[in-house]
Amino acid sequence: MRTWIKSPLAISVSERIDAGNGVVVQEDHIEELVKTGSKPQREIDSIIDASDQVVLPGLINTHHHYYQTLTRAAPDSLNKGLFPWLKSLYPIWAGLTEEMIHVSTQLACVELMRSGCTTSADHHYLFPHAVNEALDIQVEGVKQVGIRSMLTRGSMSVGINQGGLPPESTIQDEETILNDCERVIGKYHDASPGSMLSIALAPCSPFSVSRELMLETRKLAQKHNVKLHTHLAETEDESNYCIEKLGCRPLQYLEEVDWLNDNTWLAHGIHFNKTEIAKLGQAGTQISHCPTSNMMLGSGHCRVLDLQESGSPVGLGVDGSASNDCSNMIQEVRQAFLLNRLHYGADRFGHIEALNLATSGSAACLGRTDIGEIKVGSQADLAMFKLDELSFSGAGDPLAALVLCNAHKVHNLMIAGKWKVQEGDFLDTDINALQTRHEYLAQKLQSAA
Ligand SMILES: [Zn+2]
Repeated sequence: MRTWIKSPLAISVSERIDAGNGVVVQEDHIEELVKTGSKPQREIDSIIDASDQVVLPGLINTHHHYYQTLTRAAPDSLNKGLFPWLKSLYPIWAGLTEEMIHVSTQLACVELMRSGCTTSADHHYLFPHAVNEALDIQVEGVKQVGIRSMLTRGSMSVGINQGGLPPESTIQDEETILNDCERVIGKYHDASPGSMLSIALAPCSPFSVSRELMLETRKLAQKHNVKLHTHLAETEDESNYCIEKLGCRPLQYLEEVDWLNDNTWLAHGIHFNKTEIAKLGQAGTQISHCPTSNMMLGSGHCRVLDLQESGSPVGLGVDGSASNDCSNMIQEVRQAFLLNRLHYGADRFGHIEALNLATSGSAACLGRTDIGEIKVGSQADLAMFKLDELSFSGAGDPLAALVLCNAHKVHNLMIAGKWKVQEGDFLDTDINALQTRHEYLAQKLQSAA
């Protein structure tokens, strides 16, 4: 089956490439880029007229906590910085059930897909007693909605009684954590090209995990060749915690536990000094930039261009839905555009730089070379936007308009050559039923705490 996505209004490809007359998709990959004024070289089975749509490589989210969709705008968490915000939410999250994880995973994924996201990484680190096999439940959820996924087996092992931040009811012992990490890698991790599901290991943060667990997790990741992920350098409070309790700044800690390398991607990466940025670049460690969350919690600004210039790839993440509080990737591109433009100036950070974070930058974070770019041989992951809303009326450059004029929703979405959204409608998921159940469970969770 060969489909020609014909004559797009605009298409996001490298400057050197002419794909003015669209792309041909065969099975799960892009087979041909069609030059302006040309036709596909081989026979075509179907044609999609894209003359009123902007075509992007599917956007890639590199950091999320899907379960947090159940606690958006939670009253007790409002107007707080990271540590007090976490302390207000941990007791609520401790009540998570298996069904809540399943439904919140699905809801977050369809919310992302509707905004142009075709691959997403989730960081699940909460394993209350009722949900020992949270990753298995998430696997089921992501498969049902059909999004390409990186699921990270997160962990917390240092509770309040040992000087950490989370309550005891949300942590696990380290042997249980490591055994389960190995189990889910063996059961689900697929490293082949075009993989729809891979697993990474993700101890939560310096203030909820021990030095030993960081070291053991690193060994396990090396043994199975999977990626490592954690939160780092998000706030000044975290830096102070590290100095006081661990005897060094966050980056030195990362180095001491043998995580400073190109197999690691870090969420946030804000509070690094010049020397630390140079070290990160030299190591090739990647950063997931989460602009909305950073602004929401008042955490600070990730120095995106400095990191890129030093050699660290930077991707984009919406972060959990209790600190965003939405999972909208194209909106996150706009946030990154505005925040970095404020910091670096209008001539240094444009809409292309912002879009690149969510595509090629994010692909680098997840260690993928088969997604994040429209090129021959890439996976056919495409996000197509129609510029027919009021906010686009009168727009000149269609690609810039997506970012500048406030795009929210895709018209069509393709993942691995299969349509997931067509003319605005989800083909495989009953969105209304999902939302009703999610709202019920969110209320139940919040009222139980
Ligand atoms: Zn996070």
